[in-house]
Amino acid sequence: MSTARFWTPVEDGRVQCDACPHGCRPVEGARGRCFVRLNREGRLVSAAWGRPAALAVDPVEKKPLYHVLPGTSVLSIGTLGCNLACRFCQNDSLSRPQGEGGAGPLVSPEELAALAVREQIPMVVATYNEPAVWPEYAMDLADAVHARGLRMAAVTSGYIQGEARREFFRRMDAANVDLKSFRDSFYRNLCGARLAPVLETLVYIRRETACWLEVTTLLIPGWYDSEAEVDELTAWVAEELGPDTPLHFSRFHGASDMSAGEDTPLSTLLRAKQQAVRNGLHYVYLGNVHGVDGGVDTLCKACGRMLIARNGFRVNRLGMDEEGKCLACGTICAGIWA
Ligand code: SF4
Repeated sequence: MSTARFWTPVEDGRVQCDACPHGCRPVEGARGRCFVRLNREGRLVSAAWGRPAALAVDPVEKKPLYHVLPGTSVLSIGTLGCNLACRFCQNDSLSRPQGEGGAGPLVSPEELAALAVREQIPMVVATYNEPAVWPEYAMDLADAVHARGLRMAAVTSGYIQGEARREFFRRMDAANVDLKSFRDSFYRNLCGARLAPVLETLVYIRRETACWLEVTTLLIPGWYDSEAEVDELTAWVAEELGPDTPLHFSRFHGASDMSAGEDTPLSTLLRAKQQAVRNGLHYVYLGNVHGVDGGVDTLCKACGRMLIARNGFRVNRLGMDEEGKCLACGTICAGIWA
């Protein structure tokens, strides 16, 4: 176990974790809600530091990050634990683990960075479970990765605050933030969290950091699929994060406590995309769907030329140069391309 950062000692031997808005105050021997931050002898320790529970090479498109080094592979790393309690979690073996929460072999950030170099992988991604509950390991990993000239990214729910948020995102080259709904009641009832801190994180990343930002939102039939909510969310993204922010609408397949739920109809996803475009967003994608014309391709926002064609995880960079400039009209497509 490694001593955590982002905590303060409080009365009666408790410690307060300041990493996320839950502000857990575990007593001696107890854990925070995320499972992997514990009070050990009056110190907050991280059971997740150095203990990857999942490690794989993925296409960057799988994260999804569509405007970051398209067609490359990334080294994906996850640990255990989560600070949300989504009833539709698709990774609950990692997010709600049994046991100690960090029982795997110790793997240092330097070893992981060296592995990425050896495999000629240009970017490492903190993903699979919520990196906000293991910010120290993700940040040390980012430092090790940057020391070798590689990039670092995160896939996160954005439920992180204060100094942890600042220190975390200043080290990230790119992030995909999962905006689970645009209703606080949804966050409270289905995720055990709140909406406002997530919106704060999104605005913080966009305005205060150089981290490239994409947003994913999962449309769930009956829970989060109404025209009104999609309209509010997409107008907010365009206004607060900017029209060049890629937005991914993801299709729901039943999972976890909601495994009996119906899949999101394609018509709902297509309608949401139309609404987003109408609200001014330039890059709107559909996830977990196959064979939908235009659902995953990147077009020039000025002249409409196909810049990147995608087929599953196969990527064809047809209409842009190394810097992301459209070969037809010269307009730059926002992103990290080289
Ligand atoms: S990161 Fe974990 S321990 Fe810290 S406040 Fe959030 S849920 Fe609690």
